[in-house]
Amino acid sequence: MIIRERVKSILEKMPLSVKVVAATKKRFPNEIVEAINGGIEAIGENYVQEAEKKREEVGTLVQWHLIGHLQKNKVTRAVKIFDIIETLDSVSLGYAIDKESRKINKIMPVLIEVNSAEETGKQGIPLSEINSLIEQLLPLEGIKVVGLMTMGRLTEDPEEIRPDFRNTKVAFDRIREMYSDKLEWQYLSMGMSDTYKIAIQEGANIVRIGTAFFGQREDKEI
Ligand SMILES: *Cc1c(COP(=O)(O)O)cnc(C)c1O
Repeated sequence: MIIRERVKSILEKMPLSVKVVAATKKRFPNEIVEAINGGIEAIGENYVQEAEKKREEVGTLVQWHLIGHLQKNKVTRAVKIFDIIETLDSVSLGYAIDKESRKINKIMPVLIEVNSAEETGKQGIPLSEINSLIEQLLPLEGIKVVGLMTMGRLTEDPEEIRPDFRNTKVAFDRIREMYSDKLEWQYLSMGMSDTYKIAIQEGANIVRIGTAFFGQREDKEI
């Protein structure tokens, strides 16, 4: 019940143009159902196997987003269950997704994950490499690049993440202009529980919220 109320109160204040993804790693199916009862229409999972189990129970009336890093050996399973993959970060992963999607006659929507803070060891490609990745993905028929996703830097003070979001939005707008006739460019996914308000101010139209809906995470086996 508490989850439902938290979800409702956050959704009430959300601009209509923003899609809210509930980040549900390590949450139980009954918790996810509560969030759906509060109005959630999209679920974000980090791990393929965990998502497979929960999708069986929760169903497909909601959208399933992959928001965690995708390993090559999980691509076949991922393209089966996800409606969008938010974490494309290499050409080779793009090729693998394309191949598996075509096998099941699917055109998989993907977001390119950018390492907007340019921190070493972080997931995602540098902002400067977005164009060349898009060029290589354009000919692929099993994949459709529809936007960008970023985490931004890890900070104590949420305000410090603003430049990362701003730089990502600049790149997002630039790509839209350059590829207006070639891409259905629509989504900019940035912002989590502590930072989604800043992300929306900076132009995000997807936010991924976990803790603010479900409370602090415990390490439990799903
Ligand atoms: C866990 C997670 C979130 C949500 O984080 P909270 O701080 O719990 O809101 C968003 N995006 C990704 C990729 C995540 O792994």
